[in-house]
Amino acid sequence: MAIVKAVLLMLILGGVIGMFLGIAGEKLYVAPDTREEDILAMLPGYNCGGCGNPGCSGMAAKLVSGESTIEQCKPCKADMKEKIRQYLAEHSGNA
Ligand code: SF4
Repeated sequence: MAIVKAVLLMLILGGVIGMFLGIAGEKLYVAPDTREEDILAMLPGYNCGGCGNPGCSGMAAKLVSGESTIEQCKPCKADMKEKIRQYLAEHSGNA
């Protein structure tokens, strides 16, 4: 009889904890900030360092933070520069 009580208690505790974690997961969810990855995908990817950053990923981070401008990337074509400018204008806050 004691084992039945123990199993029931574990089932109830598991259900309550699972429900709490499910609700907390929904209420506390923070959408990931994908701006750096999105911009990195739009940059030429040469990692030449011509923009003064250690590579395109560094440039993407500085573009998101506003410390650099896309004009510093000379290899980037005009249409992609415009696309990046539009993206940054549309995603200036948190993603
Ligand atoms: S200049 Fe452009 S291609 Fe070169 S590392 Fe900087 S962002 Fe990348």
